[in-house]
Amino acid sequence: MKKIAILGSTGSIGTQTLEVVEQNKDLQVTALAAGGNVGLMERQIRKFRPLLACMGDEKKAQELRSLTADLDVRVTAGMEGLLEVATQPQAEILVTAIVGMIGIRPTIAAMESGKDIALANKETLVTAGHIIMPLAKERGVRILPVDSEHSAIFQCLNGEDGRAVHKILLTASGGPFRGWSREQLATVQVEDALKHPNWSMGRKITIDSSTMVNKGLEVMEAKWLFGVELNQVQVVVQPQSVIHSMVEFEDGAVMAQLGAPDMKLPIQYALYYPQRRYLPGERLDFTKLKSISFEAPDPEVFRGLALAYEAGRRGGSLPTVYNAANEYAVAAFLERRIPYPMITEMIEGAMGSHRPIEQPRVEEILAAEQETYEFCECLAQR
Ligand code: NDP
Repeated sequence: MKKIAILGSTGSIGTQTLEVVEQNKDLQVTALAAGGNVGLMERQIRKFRPLLACMGDEKKAQELRSLTADLDVRVTAGMEGLLEVATQPQAEILVTAIVGMIGIRPTIAAMESGKDIALANKETLVTAGHIIMPLAKERGVRILPVDSEHSAIFQCLNGEDGRAVHKILLTASGGPFRGWSREQLATVQVEDALKHPNWSMGRKITIDSSTMVNKGLEVMEAKWLFGVELNQVQVVVQPQSVIHSMVEFEDGAVMAQLGAPDMKLPIQYALYYPQRRYLPGERLDFTKLKSISFEAPDPEVFRGLALAYEAGRRGGSLPTVYNAANEYAVAAFLERRIPYPMITEMIEGAMGSHRPIEQPRVEEILAAEQETYEFCECLAQR
């Protein structure tokens, strides 16, 4: 029986992780954490019977305690609760499916207590990769990617010598605004940006896909996960989302991982690595697919991607600023407080006004996050 804990169990990745658990009788959930969705958390506890659960704050935890009073589960709250879930002695692997930099501390705590990480929370690697990757080596724990692109690269590298990697080809669907001009982007409304052509995901990452900021975060994530330089990571638009990413080796050979777009595949692969298991669901039918096409992303229209390369290249606390400004801007856009083009303008403005700190410690990362939120708040009020 493999025992798992999940941070962000009520979200898109969290619920799909629980679907994988349901389909595999040798997986057992021992701890769950979520933010505010008490109703869904109660249903998950009744179904999966974890010993420990955590809600975003004490008020939500109280609600959950009274709803689950008949069950044998301990309910905690806030960062303290997240750290307890992350380090729960029973769990062998932690699925980090929480959204945002709040994932950094619990991820570090889990690694320090010897757990493998199935990592969906890309913000952790983007902002604290310089802490996470050496720690993984030091503690002998594995960082197993859940992001579909990084899982694809990880699968392509299976049995290969990582030093023979020439280039990583990170594929992107291009999102709903592929081929649009900057002028057209100025008219985008929340509903337009929430329509992803191929994937069904949480709201924040769906907006990030439309701006290609998600791809920018993935470029930085790939650098840390696979130990390559930023200029070895090339983004290729592949609108059908059938090739999930590719690796080009020194000798020119290119390996690709293909499949129907279904996050359960990378989730299950991370949970069972290096084994593969049967996964029900849609399969690729090449006779129906007919063609797979490729194009280069437009860096002028999708400024968020170009800014990610800049943040990643300069490093230090700049990726934190990139990520925090984007988090603030996406939330403000979803609340209809700022127009769509201002998302990337805010990132650029915040990066321009920040004095980067090299090798920031966790406290410095969190301080840079807070400063960036305050900077963006001022910009939004202008
Ligand atoms: P969702 O918004 O769907 O889910 C986020 C989860 O985090 C929810 O369970 C939410 O709880 C929980 N959460 C939010 N705030 C807190 C808090 N303060 N304390 C505890 N839990 C909290 O996000 P996704 O599942 O889409 O994404 C999760 C992560 O995975 C992100 O980092 C994303 O970039 C990454 N990712 C997602 C992919 C996808 O297909 N969705 C693909 C690859 C990576 P609640 O809802 O109860 O408030």
